[in-house]
Amino acid sequence: MATDFGFTPGTFLGNDLGRTGLIHTPHGDIRTPAFIAVGTKATVKAVLPEAVADLGAQAVLANAYHLFLQPGSDIVDAAGGLGAFMNWPGPTFTDSGGFQVMSLGVGFKKVLALDATGLVDDDVIAAGKNRLAHVDDDGVTFTSHLNGDRHRFTPEVSMRIQHELGADIMFAFDECTTLMNTRGYQEASLARTQAWAVRCLAEHARLTTARAGKPYQALFGVVQGAQYEDLRRRAARDLAGLEADGRSFDGYGIGGALEKENLGTIVGWVCSELPADKPRHLLGISEPDDFFAAIEAGADTFDCVMPSRVARNAAIYTVDGRFNVTTAGSRRDFGPLDTACDCYTCANYTRAYLHHLFKAKEMLGSTLATIHNERFTVRLVDDIRASIENGTFAAFKEEFLGRFYSSHR
Ligand SMILES: [Zn+2]
Repeated sequence: MATDFGFTPGTFLGNDLGRTGLIHTPHGDIRTPAFIAVGTKATVKAVLPEAVADLGAQAVLANAYHLFLQPGSDIVDAAGGLGAFMNWPGPTFTDSGGFQVMSLGVGFKKVLALDATGLVDDDVIAAGKNRLAHVDDDGVTFTSHLNGDRHRFTPEVSMRIQHELGADIMFAFDECTTLMNTRGYQEASLARTQAWAVRCLAEHARLTTARAGKPYQALFGVVQGAQYEDLRRRAARDLAGLEADGRSFDGYGIGGALEKENLGTIVGWVCSELPADKPRHLLGISEPDDFFAAIEAGADTFDCVMPSRVARNAAIYTVDGRFNVTTAGSRRDFGPLDTACDCYTCANYTRAYLHHLFKAKEMLGSTLATIHNERFTVRLVDDIRASIENGTFAAFKEEFLGRFYSSHR
């Protein structure tokens, strides 16, 4: 089967895990490591797609769960796929919806803040929440967070939705556990995720044939296994060896709950088991120190909602750390957000103006702050890539993190 998709590794770090590379897709190439801008509902919130391209973002990641519920994947399909629908000509990703059907179902984020000491119950539900998602061996039944309708995702349904969405890179449907689940539950869940991976590959093969003439869509298997080294390694090996209908995964996602302090270690376990000639995407990380840890351990791409999410709350990234532009210090500051930045916002607007926009609750504040934070993140990852190529990664990491975190550590 012809696949208009590929990955070419470039320069490796001394640990043979971290590397540069090039992902080829039908909608263009991605130089890695790369930060993938998050456009959950087929929009990077508050900014025009042209601005997303101008600030250097190479690809956008949208979410199958959200687009299935609204507007419906059939509508995105009729529009010519995700990129055409949202006027983004470059590469696109969709995640499988697995995380959302389960996390929205159990109030994931609130649960994670609780003390897990002594927890033995795997039915993890935030206090005061009803259970909205139920997982069985065949799939997940869940309640829409929009209108309360009941829906069911199976591996086949997720593949059909993602084929209709038409992204260049899709992810296999997986069960996303939390760090609070017991070891026994993690093992059972992993077996389920691996069985679902086989079904995703088979359905993907069928749909690729049935929808001949559409641009090729790559499918990434998702490695779960929580914080357990043996489970993570086994999951990676099993997925790497998997074939269904003559097809194997085009790349791999690293998913599931990761404690920040173990992020690099866990990504390293997984990447050391995966084939070097296929790309690896780390699903959903947050802060600049995570980028260095993930890239050093072998992640080629990652998505991160933080730069745009915090921008809408007036939090601004600079080389000297994060600050909030609504504080009094910016009120009469007619300099740019970051003197070291080359973005559209920093070229044309002042801290005082953004301070005013946020205080006056004007929408343009979110737009300008998002452009800056996304550019900051893209440029940081560009700089990391360059540092791998010219052999200065370790020195750049020390210098950047020392400065970025000096003010609040
Ligand atoms: Zn800027």
